Amino acid sequence: MKVAVVGGGILGVAVARELMSKHDAATVTVFEKESDLATHQTGHNSGVVHAGVYYQPGSLKARLCVAGARMLRELCAQRDIPYDECGKLIVATGERQRQPLRDIFDRGHDNGVPGLVWLEGADITSIEPHATGVAAIHSARTAIVDYARVTRELGRDVAELGGVIHLGAEVTSLASRGTQVVVGAGDRSDSFDLVVACAGLHADRVARLAGDDPDPTIIPFRGEYHVLKEASRSLVRGMIYPVPDPRYPFLGVHLTRHIDGSVSIGPNAVLALAREGYRWRDLSRRDAWEIVRSPGFLQMAKTHWRTGATEAYGSVSKRRFVAAARRYVPELKVSDVSSRTSGVRAQAVDRRGELIDDFRITRAGRVVSVRNAPSPAATSSLAIAESIVSMIDDDLRVTPR
Ligand SMILES: Cc1cc2nc3c(=O)[nH]c(=O)nc-3n(C[C@H](O)[C@H](O)[C@H](O)COP(=O)(O)OP(=O)(O)OC[C@H]3O[C@@H](n4cnc5c(N)ncnc54)[C@H](O)[C@@H]3O)c2cc1C
Repeated sequence: MKVAVVGGGILGVAVARELMSKHDAATVTVFEKESDLATHQTGHNSGVVHAGVYYQPGSLKARLCVAGARMLRELCAQRDIPYDECGKLIVATGERQRQPLRDIFDRGHDNGVPGLVWLEGADITSIEPHATGVAAIHSARTAIVDYARVTRELGRDVAELGGVIHLGAEVTSLASRGTQVVVGAGDRSDSFDLVVACAGLHADRVARLAGDDPDPTIIPFRGEYHVLKEASRSLVRGMIYPVPDPRYPFLGVHLTRHIDGSVSIGPNAVLALAREGYRWRDLSRRDAWEIVRSPGFLQMAKTHWRTGATEAYGSVSKRRFVAAARRYVPELKVSDVSSRTSGVRAQAVDRRGELIDDFRITRAGRVVSVRNAPSPAATSSLAIAESIVSMIDDDLRVTPR
């Protein structure tokens, strides 16, 4: 049984590893268009291993985040990959946020998140000495990791198990031929029994190659960060988050410690004019045209233009950006931040202009496509891989190892 995986981000490589380790007779080939693994979302994220507090009970996010965090923790312990449970606070800065914070706390319990503690305002400084608020949730098990490092480690397993990883191999066609799918990548063309597409920012395009539903489309949202100067890192011990706006699948500008010791403020969420547009000046005419033409874009723009404009203004004003974090760490000053960095989120938007919240996986013939895998998909990656492989178990029709 030959399986092709499109995409060498954490999901594609985790799926390849899961296939190779569970199914003796499967041979797996990963196609990655860049010259290295983890070049896009996986290598440009906050590096947080989410505990699973926010997500709708019963959703894929809730189930796979809690399971995925546990699996990732075990993998990192086995492989000596740095993994730091530095913990996270979600802070209500005013009385109006108390009930939404309580709702998140209850959700966390419903989702089976371990180690959650409710704190009243006076107790916040026992966890984060420079933070302030009327109440907070402390999630002691929220951790940090380097997802690019994890992906490279998974890639090594794929190679050791006999899988092949083609770098610099962009998949440009998926043609169905009876029970086979012919995968075209540059001058390479080969037949496979099954294809799993984990193409991130290009998820809709690759799914369309296989004749899958064009809806939903991917809208790229850049997340920008400022990095704290080394002397200011002590303002934050772990992670400090605001209470998120329930209308959006983004968590709000937060302070995050990273595994290399650096601390960032971010990310915001600004519409990007290129799918891999890491800077304001990055514009792809094809990408921008596709965004504007996509069925849900105008409706989304109509509903969210005010937030979009605020985010765009905050993005160009360092002062506004820092002011967002100062609500819960008042000592923070513009002079505490130095460099900038960014990532681009692949957010699926449906034809009604709704930002799809949950993970979405579709199938067209012998091609399975991950259509929406925003945060916490890096946290959930090992569990998502397990779930995709069990979806195609019948097709593999081989004895599990
Ligand atoms: C700013 C930001 C912050 C985030 N923070 C967190 C966090 O703290 N915790 C968390 O759990 N999640 C976080 N996420 C989400 C997380 O990074 C993603 O959910 C996860 O990395 C998705 O992995 P992926 O493999 O699907 O996508 P990607 O990492 O984007 O990989 C997709 C790969 O497919 C390749 N590809 C695309 N098209 C083709 C083609 N035609 N042929 C061959 N290759 C192709 C791309 O080059 C790419 O390497 C964040 C994301 C962003 C952007």
